[in-house]
Amino acid sequence: MQELTHYIGGAHVKGTSGRFADVFNPATGEVQARVPLASAAELAHAVEVAAAAQPAWAAVNPQRRARVMMKFVDLLNRDMDKLAEALSREHGKTLPDAAGDVQRGLEVVEYCIAAPQMLKGEFTDSAGPGIDMYSMRQALGVTAGITPFNFPAMIPMWMFAPAIACGNAFILKPSERDPSVPLMLAELMEEAGLPKGILQVVNGDKEAVDAILDHPVIQSIGFVGSTPIAEYIYGRGCSNGKRVQCFGGAKNHMIVMPDADMDQAADALVGAGYGAAGERCMAISVAVPVGDETADRLIEKLVPRIEKLKVGPYTAGKDVDYGPVVTAAAKENILRLVNSGVEQGAKLVVDGRDFSLQGYEDGFFVGPHLFDNVTPDMDIYKKEIFGPVLSTVRAQSYEEALDLAMSHEYGNGTAIFTRDGDTARDFANRINIGMVGINVPIPVPLAYHTFGGWKKSAFGDLNQHGPDAFKFYTRTKTVTARWPSGIKEGGEFSIPVME
Ligand code: NAD
Repeated sequence: MQELTHYIGGAHVKGTSGRFADVFNPATGEVQARVPLASAAELAHAVEVAAAAQPAWAAVNPQRRARVMMKFVDLLNRDMDKLAEALSREHGKTLPDAAGDVQRGLEVVEYCIAAPQMLKGEFTDSAGPGIDMYSMRQALGVTAGITPFNFPAMIPMWMFAPAIACGNAFILKPSERDPSVPLMLAELMEEAGLPKGILQVVNGDKEAVDAILDHPVIQSIGFVGSTPIAEYIYGRGCSNGKRVQCFGGAKNHMIVMPDADMDQAADALVGAGYGAAGERCMAISVAVPVGDETADRLIEKLVPRIEKLKVGPYTAGKDVDYGPVVTAAAKENILRLVNSGVEQGAKLVVDGRDFSLQGYEDGFFVGPHLFDNVTPDMDIYKKEIFGPVLSTVRAQSYEEALDLAMSHEYGNGTAIFTRDGDTARDFANRINIGMVGINVPIPVPLAYHTFGGWKKSAFGDLNQHGPDAFKFYTRTKTVTARWPSGIKEGGEFSIPVME
């Protein structure tokens, strides 16, 4: 069996803690590798290496740092298929979806090529008599990021590309479920010209995370994952005086108005609800048709589409709509929640509980599920299921639908499907959710805008990528300068006396 490594100081380094986690192939259920789980001492070593390398990197002019990003983009494109295959093998998502994972990270790297522009600072000429004032954005030093399993290429790049473009060193603690692509990305960054020690990968679990949270040299922490861990990391990181941004779980509602194009809405719901087996923080997990007639029409259109979904391994190529979920434990959790929905009185319109795939009986496949008549008190409504399960909550009016989405504790993304511009505009203005789609089911902002939810979906005041990333990964220093003019009058030869 393959034994994975850490990537420290420009080299693959074996784990020394003696602790490992299994890395599965979710399609077959087989353990295909084991990943070392770092001790606090291994993390501290990586920090030492990073701290030694970072000042020289910060001193490299921003245009040269940007050139490393340019080259990295080329290498990502060169190795796209290889990266996508490695990603699908550990995560389970289809190959086109895995390539999308790499691509949405790559786009943030492209954005970071603008580092010289973004880091220019501000200047006020003659802020006072003979006084100039200027602000600089300086690198923080050693920064770190802790990432989830569901986007093992995109989210690490969302963090390390801006961090490194700003002149920081970055330590990545990826998910222990799919650590291979992050290791490949670190190799590619060095091939692109990044000095050793600036991007390192320390694999691990809670022990490595706690070591990051408590290490005095680490200046900032980015986290993406589930809300309970986000809250923990935010609290402990902030109390240790670090700059912390944490992005958590989601329960994204899609409101379907009576005037919506019902075919368009149904297609959107199927893609956004079941794509990547529902393991996306921007997946739609709640459909909210307005009015019973809308609900009936929507369900009627959804059922045949859902029954036609093709579930299978990524190796089956384009013939597959979504793959397995990431672990046996994830599958168990999803089926437990589906059963709770049935017990609590929701109507299971499409039942995927008996789904099994010939030849892949040990894989972590979950059939698609559709619930109707879900109510806000049910567990399937309150909790993030993170699986191929779509819940329908019927609302009797637009105000009721709006209130439902606003009352949920999560606030990552949402969408409204309507032909009415006034309703769409009202929705976008009033909703207390970070990312809004109007006839767009998964409104993930592009690299030059910022990504972030509200409420329990995000902690900290700056979003990911876009201009916010350059703020998060730099400190502002403001200089007020006055230069005495005396020198122009020539030397003073007699002893100065009080006048
Ligand atoms: P997770 O919270 O289990 O793990 C995320 C990271 O935290 C991993 O690196 C993991 O090793 C670490 N971790 C896990 N338990 C820990 C503990 N007790 N102490 C310290 N560290 C710990 O999340 P996941 O299952 O990998 O990812 C799925 C979750 O991520 C979902 O809730 C999803 O909504 C969320 N997510 C959010 C966004 C967003 O931008 N808001 C994006 C993607 C995923």
